[in-house]
Amino acid sequence: MNELRSVSPADASDVVGTFPVADAGAVDAAVARARAAFPGWRDAGLEARAAVLRRFRDLAREAAPELARLVAREVGKALWDARAEANLLAAKVDVSLGDGMALVAPMQPAPGQRATWHPRGVLAVLGPFNFPLHLPNGHIVPALATGNCVVLKPSELAPACGQALVALLRDAGAPEGAVEIVHGGADTGRALAVHDGIDGVLFTGSYAAGRALKEATLDQPGKILALEMGGKNAVVVMDDADLDLAVAETALSIAVSTGQRCSCASRIFVHRAIADAFSERLIRTLRGVRIGPPLEDGVFMGPLVSLAACEKLGHYRALAGEAGGERVLEVDPGLPAPFVGPGLVRFDDAHQTHPYQRDEIFGPEAALYPVDDLDAAIAAVNDSDYGLAASLFSAERRHFEHCVGRIRTGLLNWNKGTVGASGRLPFGGAGRSGNDRPAGITATLYCATPQAHLENESPLDPEALPPGFPRS
Ligand code: NAD
Repeated sequence: MNELRSVSPADASDVVGTFPVADAGAVDAAVARARAAFPGWRDAGLEARAAVLRRFRDLAREAAPELARLVAREVGKALWDARAEANLLAAKVDVSLGDGMALVAPMQPAPGQRATWHPRGVLAVLGPFNFPLHLPNGHIVPALATGNCVVLKPSELAPACGQALVALLRDAGAPEGAVEIVHGGADTGRALAVHDGIDGVLFTGSYAAGRALKEATLDQPGKILALEMGGKNAVVVMDDADLDLAVAETALSIAVSTGQRCSCASRIFVHRAIADAFSERLIRTLRGVRIGPPLEDGVFMGPLVSLAACEKLGHYRALAGEAGGERVLEVDPGLPAPFVGPGLVRFDDAHQTHPYQRDEIFGPEAALYPVDDLDAAIAAVNDSDYGLAASLFSAERRHFEHCVGRIRTGLLNWNKGTVGASGRLPFGGAGRSGNDRPAGITATLYCATPQAHLENESPLDPEALPPGFPRS
């Protein structure tokens, strides 16, 4: 049998675990177990399901320090960052059971008219490597709360994290089959997604994989496909911005998680009047970030997740000159792969035509462009195939309000960086970033489906019958 061998990107001698790759038979078996569990889990009712999820919350809280170390080892995320991720598991439960379930509460707009929401059945969750606990959890908790069963396929780069998450849910009392897991890469993901026993696919990952899933499920229109994909996220800094704040938040947005967050900033549009001053300070800040082994205290950035990710970053970095940019920063280009430092490239204007300027690179690399005014900045931000996250730095709220609804993006922040998000708000993007099924608090909406009811407790009223219709 094929095996996945999970090795820490920070230390090739640290084998995190080995996991069997699920072939078609193993995928069939996992889906069958989930299908068998579905009626019981659905009919158990919300209170019984909530009790399991609350136990999961408590277990996740206790296990958070250990889970954080596992994330740091398996994907190379710096420990402070991995701790923040591990703490999100428990937080997801109460918001899903509260505000999330309120979105799918029965509706009664008038007497005799009611709509109720129901689970879809068995949902496949396909997770990415970069938040190997938080993002699968962000689908799984609302899916379970609304009465679905789940089959998780974690990233092939983070199987141990996926396994740990499922173990906690089972320890919390999720009944047999309610939460299944299969391991593997794209082939396993595809086999699971197209399986006839799967009623919906909740995917977080790259545009390329999301597109492949859309194509693979074209002939299954009844299967819901929620796509959370990449970003080419933008920061706009106006000439009235608080520069200390703008520089720190922009540097964080470029370099946090070694640039491997869907919401990391990679396009910085700065008012021409302050472009030199901003660029100089941004470079100074990025030079100062501490890069090192993810488990070491005080380290801000660990390695990239893999040598392949490192090669991809190197490929794009080599294209910056061809794209018309001038490299103004590459921190420690001699670091041993897959450790890398942040990089910055300056352009003379905001035209973005080259793949370096348009593709999601997924590393700590950003391009800085001068702009003349806010409308030029809005046009430049919107000149992207993606539309996930953007930020405006300006002293004036009216400038921000001018951007609201005009910048095409799922997340638009004011005087805060592009990274970070509230679990109490929707999370999703436009264009190649998503297909309008935002996760976050609105995840319960795609996990459930409404049924409308016209209800009557009165006897037949002959007067109400249409003309020409027999009365007796
Ligand atoms: P990826 O697309 O390589 O993989 C994601 C998951 O899909 C993995 O489980 C993988 O095995 C599976 N997969 C890959 N190809 C597939 C196929 N053809 N059919 C079925 N399954 C397939 O993504 P990744 O490298 O793990 O994660 C990084 C990407 O995820 C970035 O693009 C990032 O922006 C994006 N992301 C988006 C969000 C969001 O909420 N929008 C959050 C985190 C990450």
